[in-house]
Amino acid sequence: MPTETRTTCPYCGVGCGVIARVEDDGKVSVKGDPDHPANFGRLCSKGSALAETLDLEGRVLAPQIHGQEAGWDAALDLVAQRFRETIAAHGPDSVAFYVSGQLLTEDYYVANKLMKGFIGSANIDTNSRLCMASSVAGHKRAFGSDTVPGCYEDLELADLVVLTGSNTAWCHPVLYQRLAAAKASRPTMKVVVIDPRRTATCDIADLHLPIRADGDVALFNGLFHHLVDTRRVDEAFVGAHTSGFSEALMAAARLGMAELSEATGLSGMALRQFFRLFAETEKVVTCYSQGVNQSAVGTDKVNAIINCHLATGRIGRPGMGPFSLTGQPNAMGGREVGGLANMLAAHMELGSAAHRDTVQRFWNAPVIADKPGLKAVDMFEAVAEGRIKAIWIMSTNPVVSMPDADGVKAALTACPFVVVSDIQAYTDTARLAHVLLPATGWSEKSGTVTNSERRISRQRPFLPVPGEARPDWWQMAEVGKRMGFAEGFDFASPAEIFAEHAALSAYENDGIRDFDIGAYAEIDGTDYDALIPFQWPQPAGEPSRKRFFADGRFYHPDGKARFVPITPPAPAARDAAFPFTLNTGRVRDHWHTMTRTAKSARLSAHIAEPFCEIHPLDARALGIADADLVTVASPSGHAVIVRALLTERQARGAIFVPMHWTGETAAAARVDTLVPGRVDPVSGQPALKMAAASVARH
Ligand code: SF4
Repeated sequence: MPTETRTTCPYCGVGCGVIARVEDDGKVSVKGDPDHPANFGRLCSKGSALAETLDLEGRVLAPQIHGQEAGWDAALDLVAQRFRETIAAHGPDSVAFYVSGQLLTEDYYVANKLMKGFIGSANIDTNSRLCMASSVAGHKRAFGSDTVPGCYEDLELADLVVLTGSNTAWCHPVLYQRLAAAKASRPTMKVVVIDPRRTATCDIADLHLPIRADGDVALFNGLFHHLVDTRRVDEAFVGAHTSGFSEALMAAARLGMAELSEATGLSGMALRQFFRLFAETEKVVTCYSQGVNQSAVGTDKVNAIINCHLATGRIGRPGMGPFSLTGQPNAMGGREVGGLANMLAAHMELGSAAHRDTVQRFWNAPVIADKPGLKAVDMFEAVAEGRIKAIWIMSTNPVVSMPDADGVKAALTACPFVVVSDIQAYTDTARLAHVLLPATGWSEKSGTVTNSERRISRQRPFLPVPGEARPDWWQMAEVGKRMGFAEGFDFASPAEIFAEHAALSAYENDGIRDFDIGAYAEIDGTDYDALIPFQWPQPAGEPSRKRFFADGRFYHPDGKARFVPITPPAPAARDAAFPFTLNTGRVRDHWHTMTRTAKSARLSAHIAEPFCEIHPLDARALGIADADLVTVASPSGHAVIVRALLTERQARGAIFVPMHWTGETAAAARVDTLVPGRVDPVSGQPALKMAAASVARH
């Protein structure tokens, strides 16, 4: 009999529900789950091609030690021994885990527990640092917690949706489809897209603002002043529920229209149109994604946006609020279990002695990390400098995706002990592993993920586990036991881990922390298997909640939100030899480093090779014609060779190269070799969209 299994798409943060059907002959097909509240049956090109990505070609099917197949016992014993020896000789901060927004929450939970509560270091960070760390930091500064205030329905209810730094049509396609459908049925709804590129998202825009890179702070500071000048401030809300308004207004330098045009690259007419639209529309949602987050001033951009929503009291009510679009399928779940170097589990604070005590007692842990660990860029620098001597990388490919990707490669090549858990044997990172552990992949693994609207859904297995692959949580737990921490890691199933995670979220909480799913603290395997998608919070005995903050209650100790004073950044100094601003990002049909999507001929057919989008006038000045090969180079001396794509979608002086392609040669376009490890000082998120570059005909 054919079987049908309800699961969740493993790609973007929309978190669509998928029904996977397996026929008697083993053939798999997928369709959107009509009952899943994220997508109501829709799937995008990537989601609908999932069945084409399930073959075993390239899979790691057995543990390997130095490239030779080995049994699980030998591999796990070696990992535990090397980590134990390294810690004994050099202390707990000499080891690290670098994990991934692709992990399930249960995997993340066990990894975080092992590192922070038993090894005693906070050196666990994640590729989510590259994705949404600035949103986390901005939320915490404004709200006192990492809380996404609204839900997807708000985009449909709004009269104005502002999409800033987000090519939603390609990167969150089903949410874009929902928005487009809402706009089609209610044409009075307005959409503004703020993006240096004229992307596919602009197809539904009433107004496209081709902003200068990093012009967002000036734009939203200018909007803040406009809201004050036009008396749009909700004084009752600001007075009762916020602090810091005057200081923030003072810091948001009042620029004349000419200065604002200079800072943003936008015409006075466009600026006035946007300001008027925002000021005069009560129901406004402002969505932001990597164009905001992946910047050296990413956190300031987030807070400049939130300041405008706080000033107007437009937050937490239907159709209103700032809204972070998370890039990865489970970046949110990782945040919930504390899978970042500066967080504790269950949205507790590493910097709070009371929270550390709470978590340590709950875990009955021998130690608890008492200072932040190394964030992604710093972590790989520490590997390069020999301060980290053993690292375990799970479900991510930093040799391609990290800034200064060649520096990361060199660091891992020289690192005394590298463990990689992955499904693919031949990623750039897996090739550098001393121990390579076969992980279960989508279709085989079981657990939960959280999407951008705080909705927790099950990923369910529907295919047999191939070879000797094992779940990531199991690998971590086994190493934990072998390191001598038997009691903390005696998990028999992901359901047990989820129940512990839920219990910790409710432990000594009483509404003082936003993340509480205590209703599931006693969940058993049967109910876990049947779990229907729900939004957190869901404390015991209470329903789940769509929105936060409409009641004006925030999570700072005084219960008030904070306006954050945001000073516009100084213009970046320019090296005349590298006059272009290099923007990196996704294309519609590939995901990250293509370990899965490249298996689908249909997906690869959309865009078959890496390219450099460049404005035709810039190209002409350099003697470059459409489809020429060009060399894109960085001040660090790195270069990639890609096909020129001349398009007026691209602003003058800026270029775009996708992040996905990889390989050993420059022609393989590992574009993150060109991006320096410059980070936002608050969030540690790298500025992956603002590198200096030159372009020349090859
Ligand atoms: Fe998957 Fe995102 Fe597409 Fe939904 S929108 S099917 S979650 S890639």
